[in-house]
Amino acid sequence: MSDLHEMAEAFHQARTAPDVTDRATGLEEADRIGGVALVQARLQGQGAEECEECGIEIPRARREAAPWAVCCVECQSLREGRRHG
Ligand SMILES: [Zn+2]
Repeated sequence: MSDLHEMAEAFHQARTAPDVTDRATGLEEADRIGGVALVQARLQGQGAEECEECGIEIPRARREAAPWAVCCVECQSLREGRRHG
């Protein structure tokens, strides 16, 4: 599951929560999850054409799907694995 998907889920829960406290919690959760991806997108702008981990050219399809990406799918999954592990 991607960060952006989790963020969208959290925002959805925040918008649809019946209780104000739940809504606030949902927004905090969305902010926590989405913060990293949004900050990356802002800081890194267009991302990179070559993977900053292994140096291969990042496929155009990936750059279009994730304009902020600075590494290839494999290295990204390794990074996420480290982050969650
Ligand atoms: Zn790579």
